[in-house]
Amino acid sequence: MSHDSEVCIIGAGLAGLALACALRTGGRTVTVLEARNRPGGRVLSQAGHDLGPSWIWPQNHRMLALLDRLRLDAFPQHATGRLVFEDAAGAIRRDLDFATMGGALRIDGGLARVTDALAGELGGSLRLSCPVRGVTEDSTGVTVSTAHDTIRADRVVLALPPRLAARLGVIVPDVPTWMAGQAKLVATYPGPFWRAQGLSGDAISHRGPLAEIHDASPSDAGTGALFGFAHPGAARDPGFRDAALAQLGRLFGQSAAAPDALFVKDWSIDPDTATPADQTPLAGHPAYRALPPTRRLTFAGSEAAPENGGFLEGALAAAETAYSQLMHVAET
Ligand SMILES: Cc1cc2nc3c(=O)[nH]c(=O)nc-3n(C[C@H](O)[C@H](O)[C@H](O)COP(=O)(O)OP(=O)(O)OC[C@H]3O[C@@H](n4cnc5c(N)ncnc54)[C@H](O)[C@@H]3O)c2cc1C
Repeated sequence: MSHDSEVCIIGAGLAGLALACALRTGGRTVTVLEARNRPGGRVLSQAGHDLGPSWIWPQNHRMLALLDRLRLDAFPQHATGRLVFEDAAGAIRRDLDFATMGGALRIDGGLARVTDALAGELGGSLRLSCPVRGVTEDSTGVTVSTAHDTIRADRVVLALPPRLAARLGVIVPDVPTWMAGQAKLVATYPGPFWRAQGLSGDAISHRGPLAEIHDASPSDAGTGALFGFAHPGAARDPGFRDAALAQLGRLFGQSAAAPDALFVKDWSIDPDTATPADQTPLAGHPAYRALPPTRRLTFAGSEAAPENGGFLEGALAAAETAYSQLMHVAET
């Protein structure tokens, strides 16, 4: 029986995109189905600002090799200056001389430059706005039902969080999706004015609604930006934006309360990333592990990574493992 594709990958986040590019280079026919109208998944950059992941670490050798292949440069997270600390009662200290994210690396223009570049290599093999509704494995292949049609493939890769794979009728352990309960806010300014005050842009607040803030300015500091993670659930409050602006003003001065632009992404209410279970805050980083493939189903999202699970590096590690499994199957 002839199938539409040797491999059908569900999810065009970093894992699905990286795997699809590798398989095509290895000579396989691949179809990638993505629910959203854009590639990248949790990688999301708006006007060049990251509303999903921002950071790569120097030990993320797969990410660094990918940047090299795509000819994208990384630059260091700004980490010079003092941190602002706000306690639960609102008392503020500005004398703490340490940086929380020193050593991390960022990409000018946002990490979506990575996923957009990979998506560009896939051309017509990537189908956007194509949510998968169900996956059925049988003795001769797999049937993938989308909102529009049905696809047959020899093998299917679930390049998405296990909690989302469970919705497709696949039996998979319940493991939380890393950062799915989070919300991120980016405020932009004419310049990084806090640096002239000896502040790094880092802040920790027990009062909120932002829990942790960092400098998100571009490498040339031609404009300024701060980003903050909301306390769990805080972004679902209708007054979140105003409260966050008031907080930026308290911590960094009144200029911070009047940004040129404000971007907010609440991942906890995005059904293409989070389930209601992801709204329960995590006590720590879950112990992710590789999920063994079935005869025709392979898992490849970052939450199925053998190492660095939950992170960008984990998405590439999971794609690498899935690639070996699929190429091995094809050769035996
Ligand atoms: C706010 C935030 C900050 C983060 N910060 C960092 C950081 O600084 N550094 C770091 O390393 N990591 C960070 N992460 C984690 C990082 O974003 C993820 O590890 C990585 O993007 C996961 O990639 P993935 O391809 O495994 O999954 P995803 O990006 O979740 O991709 C899964 C894809 O599947 C699609 N999909 C879902 N359901 C269906 C369906 N039914 N049919 C078709 N498609 C479907 C989704 O739309 C999505 O595109 C952060 C995440 C968030 C949310």
